Amino acid sequence: MASPLSSPRSTPDPDFADLIARRPHLQAHALDGLVMEEVPLVHIAREVGTPTWVYSAGTLRRRHGALRDALAEAGLDASLHFAAKANDSLAVLRVLAAEGAGADVVSEGELRAARAAGIPADRIVFSGVGKTEREIALALEEGILQINAESAEEVERISAVAAAMGRVAPVSLRINPDVDARTHAKISTGLAENKFGIAYTDAAALYARMASLPGIRPIGLAVHIGSQITEGMAAYRAAYARVAEMAAALMGRGLPVERLDCGGGLGIPYRDEVPPSPAALAGAIKATLGPLGLPVMLEPGRWIAGPAGVLLASVVLQKRGQNRRFVVLDAAMNDLVRPAMYEAWHGILPLAPDLLHAPLAPADVVGPVCESGDTFARGRDLPDLPPGALVAFLDAGAYGATMSSTYNARPLAAEVMVDGHRWAVTRPRQSHEALLANQLMPDWLGARA
Ligand SMILES: *Cc1c(COP(=O)(O)O)cnc(C)c1O
Repeated sequence: MASPLSSPRSTPDPDFADLIARRPHLQAHALDGLVMEEVPLVHIAREVGTPTWVYSAGTLRRRHGALRDALAEAGLDASLHFAAKANDSLAVLRVLAAEGAGADVVSEGELRAARAAGIPADRIVFSGVGKTEREIALALEEGILQINAESAEEVERISAVAAAMGRVAPVSLRINPDVDARTHAKISTGLAENKFGIAYTDAAALYARMASLPGIRPIGLAVHIGSQITEGMAAYRAAYARVAEMAAALMGRGLPVERLDCGGGLGIPYRDEVPPSPAALAGAIKATLGPLGLPVMLEPGRWIAGPAGVLLASVVLQKRGQNRRFVVLDAAMNDLVRPAMYEAWHGILPLAPDLLHAPLAPADVVGPVCESGDTFARGRDLPDLPPGALVAFLDAGAYGATMSSTYNARPLAAEVMVDGHRWAVTRPRQSHEALLANQLMPDWLGARA
């Protein structure tokens, strides 16, 4: 990633005014402090406590609409399938379902969440390198739009499960185009060394085999080269060009190709990155896949949900170390793991109006978890933040709550949705009782205390 958490960066961090100005759902009010849509975030923090995830429904709608419009303006027959792993909150999925979005799911749990939120089965794609027989059977029972197969072994498995059920599975082949998306190594998926997809050189033969197997209807090709792509327009174009070339070859052999799946990956500006615009992505798809005249699919996750969410946290205390100030929060890496896992930079804003304009000094922002990796930011310019002061992590709507754990026996944080002047808790904070409730004591160890 361009700007790792711990190494020096060539540009100064954006200031508070800058961070707010670039996020249309956020405003700084003189009396209410940081406001999301029409709801002061301080109100939510006071009523629900912290840490708490807050999602802007308006932002989800606006960004889904912007992507849809960009694809339509490029003259593409395109459908959007929100990657549920970015955010599987039922309320988030419901907002997108109402906008006509489908879903890209990678597990039984996500398939169930998408259906529970009201996403029609015939708009759901099932991706992932290790679908179990049970997951394949569920997908077929539900009648989902397509399964993206990632290996010859999986194709055989899908065929066997479908044939045993007397069903025909619509299957796309995910090819590994062996292109470098130039993103963080942990979220690059389109290189030959990555575990994803079928080697380009093996794909045509496997596609032909799919057409001959019972229980399988070959649908097309899929590709997904990585996530948080900010400078990989060339990689996108190279990957889509390979898909186009292969699709044309397959059709030339008389094999059916109904549609092409372009995956997700479009990056967002967490700090000062300048990712490709939806129009640029649509243009790349049009230029490479357009001539085939086939419907295309997109599986965006981060681009839609990332900017829509914040994580609210409270300051536990400020610890003055030698030459360092540590701001210790009640949120930790178990809540938002992206800084620890990907060296990700997140904007951090105080919520109170006076703190948005107070003098700044560098601080390390950390959580209370017993890991040095539990560090959200180093040397970040922040005001004096006394115990109880509230802050928001920006752009936490994707790969935030979905990647949470209960490490250090910390209950899962609450989730809230804001929609205009309305807001509601969409997942109450997990209770400590619930955290212990599903554990059993072996009878030879005696009863629980
Ligand atoms: C993760 C994933 C996506 C979504 O990626 P984003 O970077 O969030 O857009 C789409 N398709 C597949 C197959 C994925 O694994």
